[in-house]
Amino acid sequence: ALPVGVLALQGDVREHLAVLSDLGADARPVRRPEELDAVRGLVIPGGESSVMDKLSRLFGMREPLRQAIADGMPFYGTCAGLIMLSDTVLDAIEGQQTLGGLDVVVRRNAFGAQVDSFETDLDIPVIGDPPVHAVFIRAPVVESVGAAVDVLAALGDDRIVAVEQGALLGTSFHPEITGDTRFHEYFLSKVRSA
Ligand code: GLN
Repeated sequence: ALPVGVLALQGDVREHLAVLSDLGADARPVRRPEELDAVRGLVIPGGESSVMDKLSRLFGMREPLRQAIADGMPFYGTCAGLIMLSDTVLDAIEGQQTLGGLDVVVRRNAFGAQVDSFETDLDIPVIGDPPVHAVFIRAPVVESVGAAVDVLAALGDDRIVAVEQGALLGTSFHPEITGDTRFHEYFLSKVRSA
């Protein structure tokens, strides 16, 4: 089976491991550089991006992760994971860094304090019918994208919530908690063809 990792420093690691295993992948938690070397793709889960950033540095994972992105390994970031993959983050915690890779500007907690979480159905052409039931939890929004970035989904005209750039995939929402496995299948197809 295809060895695929979930970055297991913080966040909803189990949910992603369960979906990937159900889809037949050899899904493994990744905390150390050796574990990263042994997988062909990596999910960065939802959680708290500023904590994930700190832990990635404490665990000596920041540079290995950046190298894997530079080497073209497929990554899929959900929510905090999308923030980690973004080149620029607005409303970051003081000193917060990202791994980068996606040429996008993302804003943390973009839906504000009144609306901590909400759900909606999204038409996403690369995923197909039926629409994706998307769950947003203190979610980021992509405010602008570079020329090499494909916008996969947006709320209205300007609030981008799913992007792809080469081997990198990111969503503001959390497919791992809805039982809809199509985003993970899409990611696994990218890992297989990488
Ligand atoms: N607000 C979180 C952050 O800034 C993301 C929330 C999530 O992953 N559900 O990292």
